Amino acid sequence: MVSLYFKHILLKLGLDEERIETLEMKGGIVEDEFEGLRYLRFKDSAKGLRRGTVVFNESDIVLGFPHIKRVVHLRNGVKRVFKSKPFYVEEKVDGYNVRVAKIGEKILALTRGGFVCPFTTERIGDFINEQFFRDYPDLVLCGEMAGPESPYLVEGPPYVEEDIQFFLFDIQEKRTGRSLPVGERLKLAEEYGIQSVEVFGLYSYEKIDELYELIERLSREGREGIVMKSPDMKKIVKYVTPYANVNDIKIGSRIFFDLPHGYFMQRIKRLAFYIAEKRIRGEDFDDYAKALGKALLQPFVESIWDVAAGEMIAEIFTVRVKRIETAYKMISHFERMGLNIHIDDIEELGNGYWKITFKRVYDDATKEIRELWNGHTF
Ligand code: ATP
Repeated sequence: MVSLYFKHILLKLGLDEERIETLEMKGGIVEDEFEGLRYLRFKDSAKGLRRGTVVFNESDIVLGFPHIKRVVHLRNGVKRVFKSKPFYVEEKVDGYNVRVAKIGEKILALTRGGFVCPFTTERIGDFINEQFFRDYPDLVLCGEMAGPESPYLVEGPPYVEEDIQFFLFDIQEKRTGRSLPVGERLKLAEEYGIQSVEVFGLYSYEKIDELYELIERLSREGREGIVMKSPDMKKIVKYVTPYANVNDIKIGSRIFFDLPHGYFMQRIKRLAFYIAEKRIRGEDFDDYAKALGKALLQPFVESIWDVAAGEMIAEIFTVRVKRIETAYKMISHFERMGLNIHIDDIEELGNGYWKITFKRVYDDATKEIRELWNGHTF
C-alpha cells in the first residue's frame, strides 16, 4: 500500500484518486526504502511521470529517463529526423543508465527502473564533484556507468581497462525532467570536471559520409554506437554499430533461454539493415554471416555442454566496494529484482576497496537445458 504521504503528493501532481488506486493495484507504483529514506518508484508511466520516476518528497522528484528512438537505416533516419539541421553526435557508451541527484544531504544514484542502487550510490563520489550539487541542487546528472567491473553487465567499453567509470550524457531538471541544451551541459561538465561521453562534433545530413566513416571506426574499435541530438535536445535518436549487434548476440546466446526471442530478432534485424544499407556483398558478406552464426551458436552450444556436465548456467561479475556491507546491500537489491546471486569471493585490495566476485545463476535456463538434454519432450 502506498502511504498517505505519497498519495498526497501524487494528488498535488494532478493524479486523481482513481488513477492512483489503479496504479497501486497493478503494481505500477511501489514504495521503497534506502537507508531510512522512503521513496515512491514508478514501474509504469502516469500523467507525464515517465516509467522509472522516483518521488522522494514534493520537490525532489526525479523523472524517469526517456526512451530513445532508434534508426536502423542511418542515411534515411538522419534525413527524416534532422532534415538539413545540425545535430551533435556523441558516443553511445555501453554500460548501465544512472540518474544522480542530491536528496537532502545524500547524493543518490538511481537505476533505470527507479531503484536507489547501493553500489553506484557508494561509488558515485569517486566520479562526481559534490560542488556541482551544492551549486545546482535542482539538477539531475544522467550518465552511463561502464567498465569491466560492473554489477549489471558482463562487458564494458574497450577503453575502460579496469574498474568502472561514469560518463555524463544529459543534465535534467528535477520535477520537469527537461534536459539542458547540449552546449550548456558540455560547459557544466567541463567546469566541474565531470567526465562526459565522447562528443564527435556537430554533423548534418550533408556530412553523412563522415558519419558512415565514424560508424566503421567505432565498430572496428569494438564500441557500441552513437546517439544523435539536436542542440536543444528536442530530437534524439540512437544507432548502433554492427560490432555491437553481433557482440550482444554472442553475450546473449549463452543465456539463450533467459532472454526474450525479441532480443535476438531485433539485433539480427539491425545487422540486416546495416548490410543492406551499405550493400555489403561477397567476402565481406560471408564474414558477417559467419560472425553472426558463430555468435548465435557457439556460446549456446557451450552452455548446453556445461549443463550436460552438471554445471549451472551462470555469469560472473566483479565489483569494487568501499564497505563489505555494500556488497550485501547489492545482494538484497538483486533479490528484490528477482535474481539469484551468490558471492564467490571477497578480497581486500588494500587501497580502501574490497573486490567482490559474485555469480548470477540462471536457474530456469539451466533447468530447461537439463530437461531437453535428458530427452524430455516438449
Ligand atoms: P530505450 O528505452 O531507449 O530503448 P534501452 O534500455 O533499450 O533504452 P539502449 O537501446 O541501450 O537502451 O539505449 C538507450 C540508453 O543508452 C540510454 O538509456 C542510456 O543509458 C545509454 N546511453 C549511452 N550513451 C548515451 C548517450 N551519449 N546519450 C544518451 N544515452 C546514452
